[in-house]
Amino acid sequence: MKYDFDLIVIGAGSGGVRCARIAASHGARVAVVEKQYWGGTCVNIGCVPKKLMVYASNFNNQVKDSHGYGWDTVPGHHHWPEFIEAKNKEIKRLNNIYISMLERAGVNLFTGHASFKDDHTLKISSSVLSDEKAEDKFITGKHIVIATGSSPTKLDIEGNEYAITSDEAFYLSKRPENIAIIGSGYIALEFAGIFAGLGSYVDLVYRQPVPLRGFDQDIRQAVYDAIEQRKDIIQHVKAHPKKIIKQGEQYHLYLDNGEVVQTDCVFFATGRHPNLSGLNLEKIGIEKGKKGEIIVNEDFETRIPHIYAIGDVIDFVNLTPVAIAQGHALADRLFGNKIRKSNYDYIPKAVFFNPPIGSIGLTEEEAALRGAVDIYISNFTSMRYSLTERKVKTFIKMIVDQSSQKVVGLHIVGDDAPEMLQGFSVAVAAGLTKAVFDETIGIHPTSAEEIVTLRQVARVTDKQN
Ligand code: NDP
Repeated sequence: MKYDFDLIVIGAGSGGVRCARIAASHGARVAVVEKQYWGGTCVNIGCVPKKLMVYASNFNNQVKDSHGYGWDTVPGHHHWPEFIEAKNKEIKRLNNIYISMLERAGVNLFTGHASFKDDHTLKISSSVLSDEKAEDKFITGKHIVIATGSSPTKLDIEGNEYAITSDEAFYLSKRPENIAIIGSGYIALEFAGIFAGLGSYVDLVYRQPVPLRGFDQDIRQAVYDAIEQRKDIIQHVKAHPKKIIKQGEQYHLYLDNGEVVQTDCVFFATGRHPNLSGLNLEKIGIEKGKKGEIIVNEDFETRIPHIYAIGDVIDFVNLTPVAIAQGHALADRLFGNKIRKSNYDYIPKAVFFNPPIGSIGLTEEEAALRGAVDIYISNFTSMRYSLTERKVKTFIKMIVDQSSQKVVGLHIVGDDAPEMLQGFSVAVAAGLTKAVFDETIGIHPTSAEEIVTLRQVARVTDKQN
């Protein structure tokens, strides 16, 4: 009982909350310190409000598509302030659920900014939520977990103070008619889909020839083609922003290819960096990597063995379910005397664009480096669009290792891709062979049945070709 707590978690995001709850369920005395957002980025300014915005943005097309099915539905007007208010109310509800969930688990909650006084002691200063300056508190912990997440990174260019990031996009007082989004990763594509779906014109500016670097090349091309089909998103490829100049109510975004994009709003979706400032990590000698991430071993231990880091601060795969898996495994190991395994080799991924993208396993390029692979492709317009004016393609790509016949990659662009992919990810993660997929009876009529009816090898790729 030398310390106030067996475990202190800094940061009440997805990973931190899971770690705290599981540790408490194993009987540990646990505290969580949170500066601002109970539930962290995912609940407040990430996955959850983003998905609500994606839902909001999809109704527009559904109204148009309904005409092909005999409806005379008239497109309405989207009321942004009402929507944001409803979204905020839901987020508040979730904040309270997180707080009560932790309290019910017996976790002690501290609202404020934590910094290390020494390697077992944290100073907790006033919260950014409170106007009143409270006395600093000091608490000690036998084990301390850093789970403070990440924040958006703005490009270092002239006029970047005019640009917003996803943090602000969730709280805009009005929807911009025109918006220039920089980047072509998860956040750029998801918000391009959201704003375009709600009626904005989007200029998508990125430095690659096709979006989503890191994804399979055919998937990237399919997404590029899907965007080209739309009239509400203009792609400015191989382009890099140089400066932003304010002109009255508008902004002029100068690109290195000579173009000037005139817009109501510039949005940087150019990556994120770990939230580590003010923690005083230097004082206790925590080691950081090149991107400012905390360096940990496979047990999430920093250089100081009783201080751990999980989630975006270690910059492994920065996804909510990964942080949750890490927090759970750490709590089980420290207090439950259990080893909890997760399959980090096969992490399913989704980008909630319209059409959405789901992906697991190796890209064709990665797989071919390990040996010859059979590529199966299906590219079709799903039944949903047989009666509609709008035609949206579904693109499915399966990568099969030739020698073992295991499915090592599965990538989908199209309606419901993330939902399909989550189910099939179990099969891929389990190392099932193509023959097992073939033996599985399809569900008819669905798009997903294509995954178990891929018959023709489209091509064979190996590292030689
Ligand atoms: P991403 O890493 O996905 O994308 C960053 C984008 O910014 C890329 O297009 C990148 O270009 C571009 N970029 C970076 N630096 C520069 C630069 N100096 N100049 C020009 N362009 C630049 O990051 P996001 O911000 O979109 O998202 C952060 C992370 O959050 C994601 O990686 C993901 O882990 C997570 N996330 C997950 C979601 C989901 O699961 N659906 C949703 C949202 C976020 P290039 O490709 O050329 O490097």
